[in-house]
Amino acid sequence: LETPIAAATEPRKLFGTNGIRGVPGRDLMLDFISEIGQSIGTYFGNGVILVGHDVRASSPTISKIIVSGLLASGANVADAGLAPTPALQFAVKKLGYRGGVIVTASHNPPQYNGIKVVGPDGVEISRDEELAVERIFFEKRYNRANWRNVGNFLPETRVLANYEAGIISHIDTSVIKNKTFKVVLDIGNGAQSVAAPYILENLGCKVTTINGHPDGDFPGRGPEPTPDVLRALSDTVKVVGADLGVAYDGDGDRSIFCDETGEVHWGDKSGSILLDYLCSSKPGAVIVTTVSTTQIVDIIAKRYNCKVIRTKVGSVDVSRAMVINTAEFGLEENGGFFFGPHIPVRDGAMTTALMLNALASKNRKFSDCFHSLPPFFQRKGKFECPNEKKKEVMKRIADHAKGDIEAIDGYKIWTDEKTWILLRPSGTEPLIRVFAESNERDKLDSVFQKYREIVSEAIGDVKSQSSLFPAVHS
Ligand code: MG
Repeated sequence: LETPIAAATEPRKLFGTNGIRGVPGRDLMLDFISEIGQSIGTYFGNGVILVGHDVRASSPTISKIIVSGLLASGANVADAGLAPTPALQFAVKKLGYRGGVIVTASHNPPQYNGIKVVGPDGVEISRDEELAVERIFFEKRYNRANWRNVGNFLPETRVLANYEAGIISHIDTSVIKNKTFKVVLDIGNGAQSVAAPYILENLGCKVTTINGHPDGDFPGRGPEPTPDVLRALSDTVKVVGADLGVAYDGDGDRSIFCDETGEVHWGDKSGSILLDYLCSSKPGAVIVTTVSTTQIVDIIAKRYNCKVIRTKVGSVDVSRAMVINTAEFGLEENGGFFFGPHIPVRDGAMTTALMLNALASKNRKFSDCFHSLPPFFQRKGKFECPNEKKKEVMKRIADHAKGDIEAIDGYKIWTDEKTWILLRPSGTEPLIRVFAESNERDKLDSVFQKYREIVSEAIGDVKSQSSLFPAVHS
């Protein structure tokens, strides 16, 4: 086995796991952003490029600089303004753009921003295409248009209506409308503020929003919908007697669900409920998910004769694998759900509409759907580990591992048929990320403790932190 060190095998200099990220005024300077715009324009070559952005304070400005760079390279640009990332991605595909640029830092803290590039299919460009853009940038090979060839700039006002129509076309609206669902949406002050509440109202839902206004300071509960910040969602669901609650991340591509009792469930469990519903009418479908997602996915896939493909952790890896394998569905444990017939990217509003469709068709309480999943315990956390020790630590882990070991991303070690632990060295931080799952609580704790000790032997007493995700029992 080759020892996995994410940083050492990372050839790209600017693009990370989800576009180019940084703090404006510190990492993202005017010249840099403009030259990236020129490089992207040069890469696409011709056609019109759609540009849009999230709610961050710096987003309108960065968007304008990107547009300037694109125009200066001779590219034509359409400006969509504020929209959820998946709405922009779908617009690129459906409205026939040559490509798209989205200014967003997703769930990162307010001071961050980022630049994400999508191809004509609306999916983030591949790692090789990112490298091609980087080469144009570093070799300063970008086009400099003369006075006659400079690009045209037009507004694009159809993005949100196009997004809603696309979502609605995949669901049974009458079965949802008949239910008059009460839904609480925790927008987290993010980009779904301009889309999800209206889509749900048009589906006959009674919508209560919290943290509902777009605000780049994310004053409500921050842009990342982790279970520990969703207390207000949980409480509001109980107070208004809602059928379900949903929380989105900053740019609206991830969704975390809360059942009618106020219990918040992590993304691989809600994703499993959707898979169970969707695969029942698509036997033999292809599902793409990452190595860190629950084994419930495999159990459900087997039920409907579906095929599961596992990728590295990262939404672009899932999207690209879906494209290559013409997969119907994709999911991540962090609340990313990908519905291929719409567009193979994660999409918070599409996922919410599918969940309403599933609940209306099953005619069950949301909590019952969770209780009927096979019960598995999970632990997610991190071990602190200096960067220079990562290689040695990973080697020790591989030496100790007996039985099944997968090296798709870090090492995933199966200690019995229903117990695994995944250890992945972070590419950016002095950490090893740890995921573990088992059908028994004791086995989960002992495998976590065992690998904590192995890492401790290599680097001295290791500092660790983790959260338990209990099994949902009926
Ligand atoms: Mg996001």
